[in-house]
Amino acid sequence: MRRVLITGGAGFLGSHLADALLARGDEVAILDTAGDLKVRHLLGNSRFRYVRDSIFNREILEGLITWCDVVYHLAAVVGVEHYVGDPYQVLNVNVNGTQSVLTLAFKAQKKVIFSSTSEVYGKSSSVPFREDGDRVLGSTRIDRWCYSTSKAVGEHFCFAFHKIGLPVVVLRYFNVYGPRLDRMDVGRVITIFLGQLLRGEPLTVIGDGRQTRSFTYVDDAIRATVAAGLKEEAVGGIINIGSDKEVSIKELAELMIALSGSTSSVTFVPQKSIYGDSYEDIPRRVPDNSRMREILGVTPQISLEDGLRRTIEWFRAQGIEP
Ligand code: UDP
Repeated sequence: MRRVLITGGAGFLGSHLADALLARGDEVAILDTAGDLKVRHLLGNSRFRYVRDSIFNREILEGLITWCDVVYHLAAVVGVEHYVGDPYQVLNVNVNGTQSVLTLAFKAQKKVIFSSTSEVYGKSSSVPFREDGDRVLGSTRIDRWCYSTSKAVGEHFCFAFHKIGLPVVVLRYFNVYGPRLDRMDVGRVITIFLGQLLRGEPLTVIGDGRQTRSFTYVDDAIRATVAAGLKEEAVGGIINIGSDKEVSIKELAELMIALSGSTSSVTFVPQKSIYGDSYEDIPRRVPDNSRMREILGVTPQISLEDGLRRTIEWFRAQGIEP
C-alpha cells in the first residue's frame, strides 16, 4: 500500500484523484485550504485523511511529506477570473508554494507529480502542442499570462530539482471537465454555460466563438494521472494530458444546448465586456497526446458528447438548478 499526499486534494481534480487512488488501495492524505464539499463522501474512509491547512504551513507540509511515499502537487490558484482578479495570489501560491513543496520533497527524497497546464503553451500557433514545443505569451501588462508564467516557473523548479536527483513528473492538463468542476456560473466555460443552460438563458460565447479547446473528461485525465505516479518511464519528463478532439467554443455551446434539450440560444459578447483589458484569448489549443498514450498507456475514452451528458446530469442532480 502506497501513501500518497495530494496538495489541493479538495479541489476538482484532486478529489477525483483521491477517489481513484483509494479505489486502488492506496492510503491518501490531502492538504487543502478549501472546505470539504468535494471530498465529503470520503471522510468516513479509514485510508483517507483530510488536513485543512495551507502548503505555506511548513511544519504541517513537512510532516505530510515525511509520511508519504509520493506527492501529487495540485494546490494552485486556477481559473481565468483569478488570473485577472488576483494575480498576486496566483504568483505567490503557484511559484512560492511549489518551491516549498519541492524543497521539502527533495529533503525527504519523495517523488513529485506536478500538475501543470496547457496554458503554459500560451497562444502558440504550432498546433497540436508538443511537450518540447515553444511557449508563446503576451505582455506582462496582460494579467492573463501570470498563470502560464507561474506554472512554467513551477516546471522549471521541477527540472532544477530533478537535475540534483529528485524524481519528478510534469503533467500539462488540457481543459479537464466533469462532475464537481466549479460552482455553476463561475469558473470555466463549461460551468458558466451550464448555469445559463439550466436557466434557459443565452449562452455567452466570447468573441466570435471560433477559438478552440480540447476538452478532456475527468476520468480520462485521472487514469493518466494515476499512471504518471507509477510508470518509471515518466520520471523527468513532461506529458500532455488531454483529448485531441478539437472543438470551437461556438460548437461547444451548440452541443451543450442540444444535449440538454434546453431552450437557450447562443449570444456573442465582446471579450472586453467580460474580462476588461487584462485578458487575451488563446485561439487554438490542442495537445499532441502521443506521450500520454505511449508512456502512460492511456487513451481518452469518453467522447465530448458522453462527457458533457454525464456532466450536465450531475449538475442537474445536485439540485442547484434555479
Ligand atoms: N468563454 C466563453 N464564454 C464564457 C466563458 C469563457 O466563450 O462565458 C470562452 C473563453 O473566451 C475561452 C474558452 O471559453 O476561449 C475557455 O475558457 P475558460 O475560461 O474555460 O478556460 P481557458 O481554456 O481559456 O483557460
